Amino acid sequence: MKIEMVTRLCPVCCSADQSHIFAEADFDPAAWDEYAFASRKTPEYMHYRLISCPRCDLLYASPLPGLEMLAQAYMDAAYDAGVESEYASKTYAGFLPAIMRRLPDLGGALDIGTGDGAFLAQLLARGFECVVGVEPSKAAMSAAIGSVKPFIRHGLFRVEDFREESFSLVTCFQTVEHLYDPLKLCRDVFALLKPGGALFLICHNRRSCSALFLGLKSPIFDTEHLQLFSHSSAFFLLDKAGFKNIGIMPVLNKYPLHYWLKLSPLPLKLKQEALARLRRRHFGNLSISLPAGNMAVVGYKSRSCSI
Ligand SMILES: [Zn+2]
Repeated sequence: MKIEMVTRLCPVCCSADQSHIFAEADFDPAAWDEYAFASRKTPEYMHYRLISCPRCDLLYASPLPGLEMLAQAYMDAAYDAGVESEYASKTYAGFLPAIMRRLPDLGGALDIGTGDGAFLAQLLARGFECVVGVEPSKAAMSAAIGSVKPFIRHGLFRVEDFREESFSLVTCFQTVEHLYDPLKLCRDVFALLKPGGALFLICHNRRSCSALFLGLKSPIFDTEHLQLFSHSSAFFLLDKAGFKNIGIMPVLNKYPLHYWLKLSPLPLKLKQEALARLRRRHFGNLSISLPAGNMAVVGYKSRSCSI
């Protein structure tokens, strides 16, 4: 597969300083399969050249494939993460009570990169109305349960598809790393939020203990991830997009034991054999909470702010 690669500036602060190379490119497009751009896949340990931005602390890929190739890859992505998606949605919903107390109302919630819509069910259960999810992968959408399917729109998120100041909450989980232009997404979300509304992101923390411990064997270093955030770069991102009262909190992820094994840095063949055995055993489905290096990032649009 011949892939045209393009270089870019830091996609958060626009710094052109690329002197801090974190890792040289290590990937083989021939090894990409239908799960290469799927959520919660088995790690492949491939990545583009990664630059550490000295200004905002973002770790970002440059050069990387062009936007059109990546957009098509997400449309074609396979999906087999229903169980993990359900677990993740419950973990992320744990942050909702504190966020909801500050929202102007519960009218209008948008979930960008909603996958099978598991989080839409959490929003509806907490009383949100006018809920909508956007998802580019048809395979993920078709895995949605019947009660949320009508609320999912197929395609990539486009700000022009929604009305300005029509949402109280916009969520975007494990997706901001995959975007070509994360700052544009945050600015677009800002325009769609009502005054007092919130953007709630979940993303990987490149400075987490697990990332530091595993190094390039951490599953966060992957060709799916075009950038990786830290506290500093996540704050920089939301602040630059206009958000106030920005809060960043660690996430304690709860998943079945077999999923933790899937993320582990064991050799692939050994991992596949162990996974097959573990999935057949009852204890393979035991749920375990671990700090997997995720962070919750929340920012609010000022109540006095009208666009
Ligand atoms: Zn930067």
